[in-house]
Amino acid sequence: MKKSFVFLLISISILGAQAPKIDLSFRVEKASRKEIRYKALAKVNDEITDNQQLFDIQYYNLDMKINVRNPGVIGRILVVGEVVKEPISEVELNFWQGLSITKIYAAGRPMRELNYQWSGDIVRVNLDSVYAQGGLFKFYLEYAGDPSDNPYGYFAFDAYNGESLIWTLNEPYGARGWFPCKDVPSDKPDSMDIRVQVPKGFIVASNGKLVSQKDTVNSTIFHWQERYPIATYLVSLAIHPYAQFSDWYIFGDQDSMEVQYYVMPDHYSSRLSDYRKTVKMIAYYSEIFGQYPFINEKYGHAEFGWGGGMEHQTITSLGGASELLIAHELAHQWWGDAVTCHQFHDLWLNEGFASYAEALWYEYEYPDYTASDYQLYSEYFGDGTIYVEDLNGSEPLFSKGLRYDKASWVLHMLRNVVGDRQFFEILQTYYQSGKFRYKSATTEDFIEHCQTVSGLNLDQFFQQWIFEEYYPDYHYCWNSAEVDSGHIVHLTIRQEQTNTGLFWMPIDVRVSTLQADYDFRVWDSLQVQQFDLYVKDDPKLVELDPDNWILKKVKLTDTSIVKEKQINDFRLYQNYPNPFNPMTTVVFNLPVRAEIRLNVYDILGRHIDMLADGILNAGFHRVKFDGTGLPSGVYICKFEYGNQTRFKKMVLMK
Ligand SMILES: [Zn+2]
Repeated sequence: MKKSFVFLLISISILGAQAPKIDLSFRVEKASRKEIRYKALAKVNDEITDNQQLFDIQYYNLDMKINVRNPGVIGRILVVGEVVKEPISEVELNFWQGLSITKIYAAGRPMRELNYQWSGDIVRVNLDSVYAQGGLFKFYLEYAGDPSDNPYGYFAFDAYNGESLIWTLNEPYGARGWFPCKDVPSDKPDSMDIRVQVPKGFIVASNGKLVSQKDTVNSTIFHWQERYPIATYLVSLAIHPYAQFSDWYIFGDQDSMEVQYYVMPDHYSSRLSDYRKTVKMIAYYSEIFGQYPFINEKYGHAEFGWGGGMEHQTITSLGGASELLIAHELAHQWWGDAVTCHQFHDLWLNEGFASYAEALWYEYEYPDYTASDYQLYSEYFGDGTIYVEDLNGSEPLFSKGLRYDKASWVLHMLRNVVGDRQFFEILQTYYQSGKFRYKSATTEDFIEHCQTVSGLNLDQFFQQWIFEEYYPDYHYCWNSAEVDSGHIVHLTIRQEQTNTGLFWMPIDVRVSTLQADYDFRVWDSLQVQQFDLYVKDDPKLVELDPDNWILKKVKLTDTSIVKEKQINDFRLYQNYPNPFNPMTTVVFNLPVRAEIRLNVYDILGRHIDMLADGILNAGFHRVKFDGTGLPSGVYICKFEYGNQTRFKKMVLMK
């Protein structure tokens, strides 16, 4: 799901003057339709009842007659479930009490009416007998009422250009607002039939394949059939006198799948153009993730009255039409619909993945740019954890910063930690192995999968990014020393964040000289850590994470080097700044208390200044050198300790 974010207007100029006109308007898409009704949704628990743990839903057959002019529905659902644990004689379904139940009866003949109790949003149906493990129970539930006021989600009786527009949006718990079901993402019916009767002239878009469309005198019955498992929050209706057009996704030698679009008649020509890249996106995601999950059915868009998008299975509901919104919702067919978050605590497995798929599409479609460029739009430095600790907490479940932006960063960072080849192998096997596809996955499942594929222990990586807050705040400094055949860069990195613990991260380091760039990777995990990097030429610039693979703050400092860290050798560091005018600081380290001498000479060997002479304690020492009154040029700092000597060149530039 992606709500339009009205408040974020970001210029893309950071990507350079010749940036293609990328449509990032989903971030600024305003609700152009005035009638959009937002409501505060009721919070409910993700937990299934004790009774619901005893059965597994196999099938729903949902029949509805919808009065489009005068809000109301008449519904009948056939529920088929299998007992998976101890025997049961009753079944609990989630169902909003604002509707009314006409009757419940066991399937089969003679028809036998069943008793039920209804409290809160749970209907407890007394089955016609006791069902043991492996047994299948089947019953019908008939109901009626106006679902538009349900507090769990949207069943909207809207209008567009004077015509009725009916649409649903269930995520996370809205399905129970208009049909009775076991309303948790972890138990998908293996298949579903949806039959909807509407007045003639209206078109019903829904999940799966349209198997028939039958006219009666005044009405039309649309029969949609979903033969892949589907989570209840992905069941959708969109009803309007739509205009329609199709495209085809061609795969293999001969095969093709229809891509069906249901649009407002006055959008027909603009959507023809807006949607033109969808098929290319299906092909791209099929290539990098694995074949489109609902290949025997369809993909499609149905326009609806909510300013954003919702990834209903095989039929995304769209309010906008921007390229990256289309990419986001399409990617959900893999991440969310085929592999579904087990509970909404794990929502980042849906939204972080779909959001990162935007970056992947961007990188693919606009080769001058990278996913790292795209991720600049998704930086989040606020508080809160990506994992949803408390579904009834104050912080919104669909927090853009946490569940979308920062979660997409976790995948971006994972990609750099394990490397491209393994990253895509992780995604492909996570989707393609039979373990999670058409089922659900928990955060722990995904972590374990990443570790199995990569062979790396990633516990700390996921712990800090998913279950803890904030980000690393790196301060670093460096100097260099000439050695026989090159230079050693002494790099010190400090983690300065105080609001959370230390981060374990590989950090890319780029050392630039006048001749070349040298790329390194250091594994940083301590509060203060020092790395020695060898380069051939005189280093001029050292950058941390130059290609933007870490969600971080970073600062080059010249003071942190003298703090705390004990180095076990006798060392003279490059002065800073260098070149200087007129003041500079010389830093050296003593492993033990010792007698030292520190003098400055000019290039001809003439003594200029004595900076230190005597016994000093172990540790870092800083001494200032003042070049006031001296001519520009190279000066030599000579450091003597016992019989050892170290030199550094300092450049005074006036
Ligand atoms: Zn989404």
